[in-house]
Amino acid sequence: MPRDTKIVATLGPASSDADVLERMIRAGVDVVRLNFSHGKPQDHIARAQLVREAAARVGRPVGILADLQGPKIRVGKFADGKIWLDKGAPFILDAKCELGNADRAGLDYKDLTRDVSAGSVLLLDDGRIVLDVQRVLGSEIFTIVRHGGELSDNKGINRQGGGLSAAALTAKDMDDIRTAASIDVDFVAISFPKSAADMYMARQLMHAAGGHALTIAKIERVEAVAALEEIISASDGIMVARGDLAVEVGDAAVPALQKRMIRMARERNKLVITATQMMESMIVSPAPTRAEVSDVANAVLDGTDAVMLSAETAAGRFPVETIEAMARICLEAEKSAEVTLEREFLNQVFTRIDQTISLAAIWAAHHLKVKAIAALTESGSTALWMSRLNCGVPVYALTPRSAALTKMSLYRAVFPVLMDQQPSSRDELLYEAEQLLMKENLVEKGDFIVLTAGEPMGNSGGTNTLKIVRVGDQQPAAS
Ligand code: PGA
Ligand code: MN
Repeated sequence: MPRDTKIVATLGPASSDADVLERMIRAGVDVVRLNFSHGKPQDHIARAQLVREAAARVGRPVGILADLQGPKIRVGKFADGKIWLDKGAPFILDAKCELGNADRAGLDYKDLTRDVSAGSVLLLDDGRIVLDVQRVLGSEIFTIVRHGGELSDNKGINRQGGGLSAAALTAKDMDDIRTAASIDVDFVAISFPKSAADMYMARQLMHAAGGHALTIAKIERVEAVAALEEIISASDGIMVARGDLAVEVGDAAVPALQKRMIRMARERNKLVITATQMMESMIVSPAPTRAEVSDVANAVLDGTDAVMLSAETAAGRFPVETIEAMARICLEAEKSAEVTLEREFLNQVFTRIDQTISLAAIWAAHHLKVKAIAALTESGSTALWMSRLNCGVPVYALTPRSAALTKMSLYRAVFPVLMDQQPSSRDELLYEAEQLLMKENLVEKGDFIVLTAGEPMGNSGGTNTLKIVRVGDQQPAAS
């Protein structure tokens, strides 16, 4: 059985040469993430090119996700690159400070002084350092160190409980959207959105720049959790961005939120990626910890479309081994998942023919115990609807459009296959679809398969036909 859960791997210094990329793709990467928090536009353009070449050599579609930096609020640089903070010591964050020292640090987000007041709690470096704000005077935020430690250049700052006013899309993000559009990425992830409006704006900018990327909202602010419903409906998918989210809402709240977000996204026909520290120890170690194995497996059981790797593949020592381990864990977890069609499915009412056919295919596949579903699709939407329910049957999405092919690389249990759909009649096409699955050894003579297609062919949104066949019974159309 193929692996249903997709793997997103972040590229960085550890994964930027052609050979390593090819090995990563062979090991199971479905989507690569270009992290716009680091590097220049030119680096991302070059990496995207390398990815497409490597994917072509391997012969598998690989999606590209551009992850925008967003208004990450950071301390400035230090004269010595880093300082040490002692518990109980006073420390100043100063919007006017150019180069920090043991007493004070600069801020690249100057408005922080307006967003905090006495009693605010600031978390630095993903919460490793905690500062209690005493008072704010002009450009200076006076704090006392609650949890100390090493603090180095440009570490992030979060405020416990949220409430920072920085807009989601910075001027740099807007430039990066244009770069992302120019390399025709499949997905764009927006960092720190607070509302649906942030997502609409990102989509508009992407379209204005000529791009067609699906929009992914990174849920990593308290405000985004409160506005989850509207943000999900304004996006094509979400990311459970556990790094910043844990700092803002408290780490203990994240596991339950992850489950809720995954369920909500799937119910609304949206995609969901579970991210951050999934295999963190493999940055330096060739094997994951027991806790990491459980974390990845639980995200799979929660129903996530994809699990994501960050520093593990961007800067780690074992990028290929990490992907191999992750793929193995996903496969095993999928085997243990219970296959049931959610009860609500039975009473759902649809207004669209293509959606109804998609779900009828799932119902048929589940009850007849078919080997595969073959969805002939233009845009990929039939495959998306099918993948929102777990019927335990792989969906082979046959499309003539390479853009749809790479987008579907993120959909759980969907396996995109390029198929020329020139032939004229519907029966001819369905026969060819069956032949293609046989040729790829995905089905064999005697298996039941479910096919969906649109008639006339070639219309996006035109799926209106469901056919169930026993492999080998269809005849080539007489010509
Ligand atoms: P980042 O986003 O890695 O860009 O910060 C993911 C997260 O916050 O978990
Ligand atoms: Mn983040």
